Amino acid sequence: MMEIIHISAECYPAAKAGGLADVVGALPKYQAQLGHKTKVVMPFYHNKFSRENRFEVIFTGQARLSQHNFTFNVLSPLGLNLGYELCMIDIPGLFDRPNIYSYGDDTERFITFQVATINWMNMLDTTPDVVHCHDQHTGFIPFFMSKIWDYRRFEHVKTIFTIHNGQYQGQFGFDRLHYLPPFHSFYNGILEWNHAINPLATAIKSAHRVTTVSPSYMDEIRHNMNGLENLLEYERGKCSGILNGIDVDVWNPATDTMLEKNFNVRTVESGKKANKAWLCNEFGLDPSKPLFTFIGRLVGEKGAELLPDVVYHSLTQLNRELNILILGSGDHAVEGGLLHLEHMFKGNYCSYIGFNEKLSHMMYAGADFLLMPSRVEPCGLNQMYALRYGTMPIVRRTGGLKDTVIDIGDGGFGICHDQCSTSDIIYSIERALAYAKDEKNFKKTRKEIMQIDHSWTKAASDYIELYQL
Ligand code: ADP
Repeated sequence: MMEIIHISAECYPAAKAGGLADVVGALPKYQAQLGHKTKVVMPFYHNKFSRENRFEVIFTGQARLSQHNFTFNVLSPLGLNLGYELCMIDIPGLFDRPNIYSYGDDTERFITFQVATINWMNMLDTTPDVVHCHDQHTGFIPFFMSKIWDYRRFEHVKTIFTIHNGQYQGQFGFDRLHYLPPFHSFYNGILEWNHAINPLATAIKSAHRVTTVSPSYMDEIRHNMNGLENLLEYERGKCSGILNGIDVDVWNPATDTMLEKNFNVRTVESGKKANKAWLCNEFGLDPSKPLFTFIGRLVGEKGAELLPDVVYHSLTQLNRELNILILGSGDHAVEGGLLHLEHMFKGNYCSYIGFNEKLSHMMYAGADFLLMPSRVEPCGLNQMYALRYGTMPIVRRTGGLKDTVIDIGDGGFGICHDQCSTSDIIYSIERALAYAKDEKNFKKTRKEIMQIDHSWTKAASDYIELYQL
C-alpha cells in the first residue's frame, strides 16, 4: 500500500475548466480501489461547489510570498464520498474568487498555493510515498521537495509530473525570483528556460518521472512544445505517455442523472432519440436530421476559429441536411462569429456560449456525431465520452485522438481527417452523413462503440507501476 498525494489546480467535482479536472477527480479514486491511500490537494475557490458544501478546517498555517505573509486554512468537505481524501487550501485574498485561472496575479496565486501546500505537508505526521503533480501550476513542488533545506524530509519521496497541456508553461521573469522560498542560488539553473523562470521546465527537470496523457502526444511534443522540445529530448529517459481513462461511474448513460432519459446498449436507439428530442426542442432544431456537436474551449488548440466557417459552409453546401449545436466559451471573436450565424441558420444551428456540465452530458447523449478538429489534443476526453454515449467522433488525427479513434475506412468506428482545415472537416461531415444513411450499419456501430473499454482500470495500475520504478 502506498500513500499518494495528487496536487492540482482542478479536480472534478470541486472545480473544472477542462479535462485536467476529470482526470484528477478519477485517477485517485481508481488508485484507492487498488488498495492505495490517495489524497488530492487543490485550491479552495469561491464557486458553486464551495457554496453548496460544508467544510471543516483541518489545519491553519502560514505561507510567505516575498514580503507578504498569508494565513491559510486546509479545508476538508463534510459528508462527501469521493473515493479519495480531498484537501482544499483556502488562501483569502488570492483564491476567494469564482474562476480557476485568467487573473493578472495567477503567478502569485499559484506560487502561494504551492508554498502553502508544501508547508502543510511538512507539518503532517506521515511522509507520502509518492507526490503526483499535474500541469505547470504545481510545477515547483518537485523542485521544493528536492532542493530546499526546510523540506528535506521529502528529498527521497518519488515525484511524478504529468503534462496535461504543454502549451501553458507559466513563465515569468527572474525579477520575481524572491517569490519562491529561499534556496541555494546554485540551483537557479533548474528554474530557468529561455532566460525566464519556467514552472513547466522546472518540473520536467526536477521530477523523477514525467508523463503525458497519451503516447502520441509524448511523440509530438518532442517536435512541438512551445520551445521546450530540446529539454524534453534531453530528459526523454524519464518520460512516457499513459493514455487517460474515463470515470465510468460518472460517465455512464445508464445511470447519468444529468440525462433526460437513461439508456444502455440494448435501449440506445430510443434513449438517444429522447435526449435528442430534448436538445432539439431546447435549441429549436429539427429532430429528423443528424445532429453534429462540438463541446470545448473555443481556442486555437481545438481548431475553434474554424467553427463559424464550418457552420456556414456545411449548412449552405449540404442543403441544411444536418443540425449543428455548439457548446463552449473562450476566444471572443469566435464566440461572436458563432452567435452571429444563429439568425441565418435558425432551425439548423445553435450555440450555447458558456460552461454547462449538464448540457455537455445531454449533448454526448443526444448527438449523432461529435466534432473534434483539434490542432493539439494531449489526450482528449470528449471523444471517449462520446463513444460511451453512442455518439460517433469525427476527429483530426493528432495526440490522444490518434490513439483512441479508428476511421471507418480502416475497419474502425469514427471518422478521421489529417488537416485542421474547413475543407477537411466538411468532407468528414459529408462522410458522416453518408454513413448515417446506412441505418443498419450505423446502429450496429453505435452499439459497438458504447462497449469499448476506456475505463481507468488499466491506466491507474500503469501509474502505480511507474511510481515503483
Ligand atoms: P481540455 O482539457 O483540453 O479542455 P479535454 O477533452 O481533455 O479537453 O476535456 C474537456 C472536458 O471539459 C470534458 O469533460 C468536456 O465535456 C468539458 N467541457 C469543455 N467545455 C465545456 C463547456 N463549455 N461546458 C461543459 N463542459 C465542458
